[in-house]
Amino acid sequence: MSSNIIDIENLHKTYANGFEALKGISLQIQEGAFFGLLGPNGAGKSTLINSMVRLVRPTSGHIRIAGFDIAQDSADALMNIGVVAQEILCDPFLTVYEMLAFQSGYYGLKNNDAWIEEIIDSLGLSEKMQTPCRLLSGGMKRRVMVAQALVHKPPVIVLDEPTAGVDVQLRNQLWQFIEKLHKKGHTIVLTTHYLEEAQNLCSEIAIINHGEIVTSGATDQLLNSVEQNTVRFRLVKGTVPETLRPRILHSEAQTFVMGFSDAKDLGTILAALQEEDCCIENLQTSRATLEDLFIKVTQSF
Ligand code: ADP
Repeated sequence: MSSNIIDIENLHKTYANGFEALKGISLQIQEGAFFGLLGPNGAGKSTLINSMVRLVRPTSGHIRIAGFDIAQDSADALMNIGVVAQEILCDPFLTVYEMLAFQSGYYGLKNNDAWIEEIIDSLGLSEKMQTPCRLLSGGMKRRVMVAQALVHKPPVIVLDEPTAGVDVQLRNQLWQFIEKLHKKGHTIVLTTHYLEEAQNLCSEIAIINHGEIVTSGATDQLLNSVEQNTVRFRLVKGTVPETLRPRILHSEAQTFVMGFSDAKDLGTILAALQEEDCCIENLQTSRATLEDLFIKVTQSF
């Protein structure tokens, strides 16, 4: 088996009404990655994720999870992946514990209590073990959805907009738990439209737009490619040399903001200023954000 725990090859999905939601997606995710799948609403993220667990049947293409083809070896593939869907689906009359025990049975797992207890504990559900789902608050129901997706301890954990509409406490608790699982070796894939969250958590990302991947790679490298890092300084002596003028993004009185690509490029700016005997103060740099990249690649369509 290759080190790609998820291997998606030329995936197409055309819905019954003729809408082409996925237009040939190819994507590899390495074992142990913390991967962010980003894109505007309607880009095709849920279609892609749901295809990984057969909730959506692709029109053509292949998906392999841990080496198992999801169409041909569904049972083996599904043992290796757990998806926390956006919608809340739970039986109103079952208690939290019953739901998790039934789910374990569905996967043919016996003696799963130690793991169920660990999930329940980590997700702050201990006091709700014997509560029927219909009596849980929205936030608690969402925790149960996470627990259900993890009941078979899948090596790949996929979370579709896990923090949309959840309170800060649950968000923190959820991330702590997910990071713990990641450290233990689980591969994490998430979709989110909180770009700051993705930038902090995901070491790799793919941005999808109109059913196609528009950019993918290591988050750091992609951010370096944006060339929208900026340096701001106040000139207290001298004038900006001609060579630097095209770089000025903004200026006000003697304060200038210029764009630069990387540390070497910043060095070029500072050296040019020094050569002109300029004297600067209040030097501040700010790095491009995932939002800059997102806007750049999704607006060129
Ligand atoms: P995202 O998760 O990125 O918001 P989705 O995968 O939910 O995007 O949807 C992608 C596109 O496919 C959207 O335009 C959506 O309206 C359309 N779509 C989703 N499900 C269906 C369906 N069952 N039938 C027809 N079109 C659908």
